[in-house]
Amino acid sequence: MSVRDTHDILERLSNLFRIEMRTFGLKFGLQPVQIEALTYLTQCNRYSDTPQAVGEYLGLTKGTVSQTLKVLEQKGFLRKQQDKQDKRVVHLAPTVKGRKLIQQSFPAKGLEAALKLTSSVKVRELEEVLRSTLRGMQYHNKRKTFAACQTCRFNEPQVKGAVCGLTQEPLSVQEIQLICREHQYPQ
Ligand code: SF4
Repeated sequence: MSVRDTHDILERLSNLFRIEMRTFGLKFGLQPVQIEALTYLTQCNRYSDTPQAVGEYLGLTKGTVSQTLKVLEQKGFLRKQQDKQDKRVVHLAPTVKGRKLIQQSFPAKGLEAALKLTSSVKVRELEEVLRSTLRGMQYHNKRKTFAACQTCRFNEPQVKGAVCGLTQEPLSVQEIQLICREHQYPQ
């Protein structure tokens, strides 16, 4: 398949995802960007749940991030929490209502049915190809990887969970599955 064909298919897929997300969000009075920000906040770790990280992950300006978070907070999907050690840092915690909403948004309508038409071996191969394409594009575009903590070069596995080699702080079994703005793949 040519690069052009790959580009076109991925673009069509991302358009479809965006349309489904818009349709879903409208039922709750939310724009796609608000759903995307809330989705990110349900998947990221404690080093990455700040307005700045939301902006980096979604490629948004400070103003757009601020408006997006304001709406999510007003609608009760999000709560702001001051950092216990550094009072200048604000953490963004999805509420139970926010987490439930995001759970309902997965998977995108039609995705499960479409994948059922493909063998599980091919689906696994597809996952590998998509992951390496994502990683390759992030590398070439000099973007942060925002990948799962357990694949990070600073992750030091312990009997239970891990220790972050960057902060020297313990990470629980749940935390190592979350995405992180400081993530780096092993070189
Ligand atoms: S090990 Fe890496 S991904 Fe995990 S918390 Fe530390 S910097 Fe982030």
